[in-house]
Amino acid sequence: MGEEKRGAFVALEGIDGSGKGTQIKKLKKRLEAEGYAVYRTAEPNDSPTGDLIHQIMIGRIRTTNDVIAALYAADRLDHIQNDTNGILKFLRQGINVLTDRYYFSSYAYQSVDVPMDWVIEANSLAAKLLRPDLTIFIDVDPHVTMERIEKNRLTRELFEETDRLMATRARYLEAFERMKDVEKILIVDGNRSVEVIHEEIWKKTKSLYVK
Ligand code: ADP
Repeated sequence: MGEEKRGAFVALEGIDGSGKGTQIKKLKKRLEAEGYAVYRTAEPNDSPTGDLIHQIMIGRIRTTNDVIAALYAADRLDHIQNDTNGILKFLRQGINVLTDRYYFSSYAYQSVDVPMDWVIEANSLAAKLLRPDLTIFIDVDPHVTMERIEKNRLTRELFEETDRLMATRARYLEAFERMKDVEKILIVDGNRSVEVIHEEIWKKTKSLYVK
């Protein structure tokens, strides 16, 4: 399997309700209509580890930062490597992969306060194994996303409140600042309409995808 056929790996990041899912769905549809093969994946993975993370995120299980960090790191590695839905498997088949959050999201550990250095360290193995070709950060005012979440969601996750989202956004931006020499990051203004954001993402990524 030659490297030249490898699919593109594009990660979408942003605080909750910033529109990652919406944009990925739209992008996937457009790519498929134009004849590209696309696989969509999300964090956490659909595995026992992912399930545990989810339980923590909704407040059903309480644990310490160290345990959460270890679970995130394990989930990332599984997400990259596992035999059934591992990202690498798809990329090697020339399939383009769109990810709703990759390791950057863990820089933002939303429900707990974790030192940024610890988080970067915890995610360093995933970063070494597989960096996205491009990380797109959909940057939205947390007040705007809270309105969206309240209007549209049946359940709210533990950390989905404005102060947390403000802090999370700041952590993301700090992480991007730190990692700008090694990561390719595109910051997109997410306070606009779904269509306008989609067009910007399309224009800035279309040359990356592989047929
Ligand atoms: P995320 O995946 O980042 O949590 P979603 O894509 O699920 O965000 O969007 C959260 C909610 O906000 C959804 O109900 C979606 O329809 C709505 N939404 C997404 N993008 C926009 C936008 N640009 N303008 C208005 N509403 C949006």
